[in-house]
Amino acid sequence: MSTPSPAPLYDLNDGTRLPGVGLGTYPMDDAAAERAVAEALNAGYRLVDTAVRYGNEAGTGRGVRASGVPREEVVVATKLPGREHGYEQTLASFEESRQRLGLEYVDLYLIHWPLPRVDKYVDSWRAMVKLREEGVVRSIGVSNFTAAHVDRLERETGVLPSVNQVELHPLLPQAELRAQMAAKGVAVESWSPLGRKSDLLTSSAVAAVAEAHGRTPAQVVLRWHVQLGAVPIPKSGDPRRQRENLDVFGFELTEQEMAAIASGEQRRLGGDPDTHEEF
Ligand code: NDP
Repeated sequence: MSTPSPAPLYDLNDGTRLPGVGLGTYPMDDAAAERAVAEALNAGYRLVDTAVRYGNEAGTGRGVRASGVPREEVVVATKLPGREHGYEQTLASFEESRQRLGLEYVDLYLIHWPLPRVDKYVDSWRAMVKLREEGVVRSIGVSNFTAAHVDRLERETGVLPSVNQVELHPLLPQAELRAQMAAKGVAVESWSPLGRKSDLLTSSAVAAVAEAHGRTPAQVVLRWHVQLGAVPIPKSGDPRRQRENLDVFGFELTEQEMAAIASGEQRRLGGDPDTHEEF
């Protein structure tokens, strides 16, 4: 198996850089995450995505160390769970994440869901700004935030997230949200970029584009993300599929192909950010 070239790096609004493709780790346990993260980093990945909620931060941290890839080359992202929103709770939760990961610093720390009913995400955000000032976090961001939630952070704290990780795939192209984030200079990461367990990868539209390029369905879908300017974080525990998913920088889709890939039924696969509660 050949090693694909590393993904290009995007500049974030805080001066750090984000690799153009990452590895998702949900729903791996610690042992699976350790193996998958080490394999992915050896295959050329430089971004790994975990969360308290996934229960695999320890395995993810072990995988980073086992890979032998220099720590400063790897972007490790984790997320604050809903049950720990609030200023002091966020500081404490972060320290627990850092210990479980076994890392001196975390590259990217995200609020996992806004939980508007709980209404504490601004307090958590202030704590994250402090963690960044202290240098234990390099970049701070959010996940599943609407433009209104991001606006509120900016209005009340003056600090914009560097990243918003949202559900984004050809069944939910998120054109409006992407435009809103681009206008603010907030990078977008795509979760469930392959449409998770939907029928996206077996759709005839995706198959036709894949055939035209001599690529796999997953590769043309991931290329679709890249050309939208979004950073996909596909999950795979399989070394061959991990490499396949990283090898998406050597071909280009036409505008018609971009449109055809996203021309099917449109639907969410996960929760609605305004109401979803994940603790
Ligand atoms: P994905 O769209 O990444 O799909 C993952 C599924 O696709 C797995 O079953 C995987 O199987 C399979 N797969 C991977 N590569 C290929 C390939 N080349 N060909 C065929 N099948 C493939 O869905 P996820 O929901 O896992 O999302 C990715 C990541 O996003 C998560 O792991 C997590 O890190 C993050 N996430 C964040 C959320 C948030 O709220 N912020 C919510 C949900 C996810 P196999 O492993 O066998 O290859």
